[in-house]
Amino acid sequence: MVQKNNCSLETNIVRGSEYFEERTGAISTPVFQSASFRHPALGQSTGFDYSRGPNPTRQVLETTMALLEHGRYGLAFTSGMGALSALIKLFAPGDHFIVSEDLYGGTYRLFHDYYEPYGFTFSFVDTSDFSLIEAAARPETRVIFIETPSNPMMKITDIKRTADFIHKHGGFLVTDNTFLTPFFQNPLDLGADFVVHSGTKYLAGHNDTLSGFIVHSSDVHKEKLENIHMSEGAALAPFDAFLTLRGIKTLALRMRKHAENAVVIAPWLARHPAVEKVFWTGFQDHPSIEISQKQSRGHNGMISFYLNDERKVEPLLRRVKLILFAESLGGVESLITYPYVQTHAAIPDAMRRAAGVNERLIRLSVGIEDAQDLIADLDQALRD
Ligand SMILES: *Cc1c(COP(=O)(O)O)cnc(C)c1O
Repeated sequence: MVQKNNCSLETNIVRGSEYFEERTGAISTPVFQSASFRHPALGQSTGFDYSRGPNPTRQVLETTMALLEHGRYGLAFTSGMGALSALIKLFAPGDHFIVSEDLYGGTYRLFHDYYEPYGFTFSFVDTSDFSLIEAAARPETRVIFIETPSNPMMKITDIKRTADFIHKHGGFLVTDNTFLTPFFQNPLDLGADFVVHSGTKYLAGHNDTLSGFIVHSSDVHKEKLENIHMSEGAALAPFDAFLTLRGIKTLALRMRKHAENAVVIAPWLARHPAVEKVFWTGFQDHPSIEISQKQSRGHNGMISFYLNDERKVEPLLRRVKLILFAESLGGVESLITYPYVQTHAAIPDAMRRAAGVNERLIRLSVGIEDAQDLIADLDQALRD
């Protein structure tokens, strides 16, 4: 369990849960690359036995994430999908989930392709419209799973209102906080029961490591989650835990720069003649700006936009030089993605279209390069 302290968020981002290693004074968390740990005597343990269970490097990362997300407990997984796979095992066939319809394609695939056959049921709805959540609720609804901002349409769901609603039903709110990170949003403070992350994105931040997290404060679920984590074998490796910890140290600086760049690039795109519409949570006329101002402390570098002509997609993806045509987000390098055939290909066509993911939609993860260089690159790639 993580100890609270009086430091500000920015200090905790740099220092983490353990400022230095006790035995040696090492300032950088050592990589405890050991599969097994010696027992002092029969019936005794150092707290570490075998690295599919607790590992010292991973443990520092887990308590750091708990500290930053204002939870008591954190668990680190090999990927965001690893974290989601573990979380769903807290529930049982027959349980009903209400899920944001505009969400990461891999999450849809996991739920629909692999858990529906076991008897879990899912309603995919636009959770930014509270009346649709109410309409989808059933007596057996146990979980509301939201992404806010959503991927890729940047819709905002009211975390507190949704939490209050599902708690009245005796269920749980899970929030995927990958897009804003604890630098800009803390869902547990707003009533969410579990926060999940793809640490691969802004947290690790360098397009070089996969990781995933569950953070929570539930003493009821603590032991079961730890057992699932240890039993399934998707606990994060020590070196990847080290890399993720190292990435997190610069989270505050990076998030500010991503946001600063988006402030320049999103309006530039909105003015471009080849662009029909831009989706970014920082626009003053974003339909949910009041909710995002209430529950978040800033905006990320994620921008989606419709080109006015599908035929402009292929040249854009081919011509970008500085911005890389690749599938991911949240790293220091700017990446451009075509959700319809990449991140969201697993979602059935009708559902993709209903959510707004069509052949003209482009998603841009703005990195921390110079904004004018990025604009110049987009400008040459969008030219007729
Ligand atoms: C990438 C992503 C995931 C999956 O995480 P991996 O680390 O790729 O397994 C889940 N949710 C969101 C919002 C993501 O962007």
